[in-house]
Amino acid sequence: MDHTEAAARIEQLRSVIRHHDHRYYGLEDPEVSDAEYDALRRELVALEEAHPHLVSPDSPTQRVGISASGLFAPARHRERMFSLDNAETVTELEDWLARMERQLGRPAGDLVCELKIDGLAVSLTYEHGMLTRSATRGNGVTGEDVTANIRTIQAVPLRLLGEAPALMEVRGEVYMPLRAFEELNARQAEAGDRMFANARNAAAGSVRQKDPAVTAGRKLSIWVYQVGYMEGGPPLASHSETLDMLRRLGMRVNPGTEVVPDTPAAAAFVRRAMAGRDGLPYQTDGVVIKVNGLAEQDELGHTARAPRWAIAYKFPAEERATRLRGIEINIGRTGAATPFAVLAPVFVGGANVERATLHNEDEIHRKDVRVGDHVVVRRAGDVIPEVVGPVLSRRTGEESSWSMPPDCPFCDAPIVRPEGEKVARCTRGLTCPSRLREWLFHFAGRGGMDIEGMGYKTIDFLLGKCLIKGPADIFFLTSEDFIQPDDDPSPRAAKSPYFIGWGEISVRNLMNGIDAARDHPIARLLVGLGIRHVGGTVARLLAGEMGSMARLQDTDVDTLAAIDGVGPIIAESVVDWFSDEANRRLVARLGEGRVRLADPEPAKGPSELLVGMTLVLSGGLEGMTRAAAKAAVEERGGKVTSSVSKKTRALVAGAKPGSKVAKAESLGVRVLDEAEFHRLLEEGPAVLD
Ligand code: NAD
Repeated sequence: MDHTEAAARIEQLRSVIRHHDHRYYGLEDPEVSDAEYDALRRELVALEEAHPHLVSPDSPTQRVGISASGLFAPARHRERMFSLDNAETVTELEDWLARMERQLGRPAGDLVCELKIDGLAVSLTYEHGMLTRSATRGNGVTGEDVTANIRTIQAVPLRLLGEAPALMEVRGEVYMPLRAFEELNARQAEAGDRMFANARNAAAGSVRQKDPAVTAGRKLSIWVYQVGYMEGGPPLASHSETLDMLRRLGMRVNPGTEVVPDTPAAAAFVRRAMAGRDGLPYQTDGVVIKVNGLAEQDELGHTARAPRWAIAYKFPAEERATRLRGIEINIGRTGAATPFAVLAPVFVGGANVERATLHNEDEIHRKDVRVGDHVVVRRAGDVIPEVVGPVLSRRTGEESSWSMPPDCPFCDAPIVRPEGEKVARCTRGLTCPSRLREWLFHFAGRGGMDIEGMGYKTIDFLLGKCLIKGPADIFFLTSEDFIQPDDDPSPRAAKSPYFIGWGEISVRNLMNGIDAARDHPIARLLVGLGIRHVGGTVARLLAGEMGSMARLQDTDVDTLAAIDGVGPIIAESVVDWFSDEANRRLVARLGEGRVRLADPEPAKGPSELLVGMTLVLSGGLEGMTRAAAKAAVEERGGKVTSSVSKKTRALVAGAKPGSKVAKAESLGVRVLDEAEFHRLLEEGPAVLD
C-alpha cells in the first residue's frame, strides 16, 4: 500500500472507529460485534505502525473512550483513567513481559492476575473516608459525574471502614449480575422496550441514567481493582498490598485474584478463569495481568491509551452448539426478508439465546446449514448472536435444507430476489404487516422520533386495535383510545376502564412521550421516515441546509447533491421518496398532527461569516446604531477597530464619514455604503470581491 492509499485508509478507519466508539460508549447501542470492532482497530494500529508519521494525537489509537456526553456534569480525574492493551496468546504475553524487562533492565517481578470484569469503569473519590464523587471514565481525562446514581449501588460504601486516607480515587468496575441482567431484559421485552445486547451495555445504560431511581432499580454491583490517586494512607509497595488495603476499607475486591511468579503461571490462571467463567454469576471477558511492584509500575509508566505494566488477556468470543429447530424469516422495514435461526435455547456469551441471525439465503447455503442440524452459535459478548456453521459430526441425515419461501408469511405477497442481489424482498410495500410494524418501530425508535413508551408491545397493541395504520396516526391518538368500549362485560372492565396492559399512568406517559416528540428537530423525523440512505448524519445535513420539510420536498437532485456530504445517490433517493404522492400526504398529515415540520431559524450568529475580518465604522448609519453595527460584526466573528490601517478589510461609511474615507482610499481599503454593509452581514466576504 503506498503512502497516499495508507493515509486514505487510516482516515477512513479513524472515522469508522469514532462512529462505533460513539455508538458503544455514548449510546450503549453498538452496531457491530466487538470482534469486528477490534479487527478495525488492529488494522489501524498496524497501518500507523507502518507509517508512524501519520499518527496524530486525535487518532482513536491514542485515546480512551469518548468525550463526555453532556448528559452529566464533567468530572476531571486527578489521575488519568486508562484502557488496557490486549493479548490473545501466551506468546503475546511473553512479548509483553520481555518488553517490560528491556525497559526496566531487570525482571519485572511478580504478576497479579485478576478477572477482567465486563462492566463500566468508574472512579470513586473518598475524602476522609466519605464518598464525595463518582465518575465514569469518559475520555480518560474527564468523565461524567454520576455520583447520585452510583450512591444507589449497595455494594459501594458511602463511608469507608477504619482509618481511611485523606483523599483517594479508587477505580472499579460497575457490573450487572447475570441474573439481574436476565430479569431486566425479560422486563424490557415484556414492555416491548429496547433490550440490552449484554450485561456490560445494561450496566453502562443503568449508570448513565438521568434518574437515579432507575439506577437504583437495576441491581448493580461493583468490584474495585485499583487506586488511581491517594493522599495520606499507609505506605504501599505492591499492587497486592493496595488490594488488601481496599478490602480492609470495606470495598469489594474480587476474591479470584492471585499473585503469580511468571507467564506460565499467569497462562495457567487464564485457562482456569476461562474454564470457570460460566459458573460465575457475572460476566468476565478476560484476565487482567499487572506487574505487582508499584515502583516498577511507576518506572514503566504508560502510553497515550494504556499503562505499560498491565495487559488484558481477552477470552475468545464465546461459542456454543445447539439444535437448529427451524428457520424463519422476518420482513424488515425496507421489505428485506432476513432468515433467522430458531434455536433450542442455549446460554452463550452471558445470555440465553433462542434466535440468531443467518444473514441471507446465500450464507445459509454457503455454510450448508440445515434445519435439524446442531449448529455453533456465537455470541461474542455483543450485539446479534449468529450461527457460525453446522456441527457436521452430529448430522444424522434427517436434516433438511432450506430455501426462501416464495410468499411472505405475513401478507402472502410474493418474495422476490432480483438477479445479482443478495437480499430478497417482500413485494407488498408498506401494507405488509411485518414491514409496517418494523417501520413504526424504527420511526418511534431512538434514532428516529424517540417516542418514549412506543416499543414493539405498544405498536402491536395499536396495530391490533386498528388505532393506527401508519406513523402519522400516532399523533392523533388520545387517552380515550385506550379505554375499552362500554359494552365489555368482563370483571376487569369493572375495575379499570382501560384495555388490558394499560392504566392511567402508562397512557399518560405515552401521551407525554408523543407530545414531546412533536417538537423534535426535523432531522429526527427524516430518519424516522426511513428514506433510503438517510441516516442520522445525512438527515442533519439535509435539515441544516434546508431547514424545513416544505423546502426539502421541492428541492431538485442537483441542489441536494451539492450539499457537502450528500452526493447524487442520496439526493436521488430523497427526491424519489418525495415524488411519491403518498409520502407527501404522510408529511402533510404529520403536520396536521402538530409534528414540527421546520426547524426554528438559527439565531442570527454567532455564525462564522466574518471570522478574521477587521472593519472600521465611520459616520452614522440610518438603519442601526453604531453599537448594534459593531455587535452584528462581532457576532459573526469579525472585529471592529477605530482607525483605518492596512489590516482593515473595509470601511463602512455612513452619513458624514469624515477623514477616514480618504485614509482608506489612500491605503486601497474598500469603502462600503450602508446597503453594502448589510449585504456583507448577510452574505459574508464574497460581497467584497
Ligand atoms: P477494555 O475493556 O479492553 O479494557 C479496559 C477496561 O477494563 C478498563 O477501563 C476497566 O474498565 C476494565 N477492567 C475490568 N476489570 C479490570 C481489572 N481487574 N483491572 C483493570 N481494568 C479492568 O478497554 P475499553 O477501552 O474499555 O474498551 C474496549 C472494548 O470495548 C473492546 O473489547 C472493544 O471491542 C469494545 N468496543 C466495542 C465497540 C463496538 O462497536 N462493538 C466499540 C468500542 C469498544
